[in-house]
Amino acid sequence: MRFNRREKEAFLKELASGRLSHAYIIEGAEGVGKFTFASFAANAILCSGERRPCGKCPDCVKFAAGSHPDLFVFAPEKDASQLTVNVVREIKKSIYLMPNEGAKKVYIIKDGQKMNVQAQNAMLKFFEEPPESAVLFILTDKREALLPTVISRGQIITLYPAANGDIAAWLAEKFPRKAKEEIDAAVRMCEGIPGKAVTLTEKRFSQIRADAEEYARAVFGREGFKLVSFFKLKRYDRAKAKDFLLMLFSLFSDVLRAKERTQTFTVLDPVQAAEYAKQTTERKITSLAERTLAAFEEIDGNANINLTLTSLGADICAIQ
Ligand SMILES: [Zn+2]
Repeated sequence: MRFNRREKEAFLKELASGRLSHAYIIEGAEGVGKFTFASFAANAILCSGERRPCGKCPDCVKFAAGSHPDLFVFAPEKDASQLTVNVVREIKKSIYLMPNEGAKKVYIIKDGQKMNVQAQNAMLKFFEEPPESAVLFILTDKREALLPTVISRGQIITLYPAANGDIAAWLAEKFPRKAKEEIDAAVRMCEGIPGKAVTLTEKRFSQIRADAEEYARAVFGREGFKLVSFFKLKRYDRAKAKDFLLMLFSLFSDVLRAKERTQTFTVLDPVQAAEYAKQTTERKITSLAERTLAAFEEIDGNANINLTLTSLGADICAIQ
């Protein structure tokens, strides 16, 4: 319950008092945690334990496994710009039926701002004659895209950006191998939006990974010139250089494992690892991994980044 704690607690109170609305409109910026909030609320509604959501009862177990029969999640199909009236037809199929397990059925509609006017008008039907046992959550990052009639009939819950300290602590848990500098950079750029912080962190991670793979191709393809000039264009800062070297070290370790016929890899897929393993000897790949780790330690110890990376390239050429 790290983010939007106040809103979650308020919802639990409402649930405990037995005065749930039939429809909630969860609004807030993209990545602020609307779906996380709606899932939490849905879990609490469907839980059959004492302190809801208890996390232990059969309902919570099914919920966690993504197989609770009374939870229905709708979202626009991939690349679709609109949620059409088909969604409402789908909902209609089950909403007036009794719940499968407990007292309620929960419907979550993601990207509610993408519901076209027709769909929203059809949706109003559920608000006007609310089925006793259903609770609807409509998520939207643009409240003004919803019809006033829809807004006025739902209970609005607004989610706000989170505190930087909370996001930083959460990212550190989620990405335990990330350098503090990198997490701090993501926190600075994410504007209080946890989802954005994750994207920023992962994006950087995937870029580093792509770089390490490109570098490895040059190593095994014996492209000496590329190895020496590789970092000129990259302009890594210290945190990035360290990430890159750790990634490269893991990649070389994968190749070594493939040579030893071990089948667990961290960076490479097994086919690629086996392919590289064919192109090198155990002695060479061990030297490559050791030299990379030495470069990491130098940069970690405040050595000049460009010099260290360039001499790594030169040394790797010599190992080949
Ligand atoms: Zn439970």
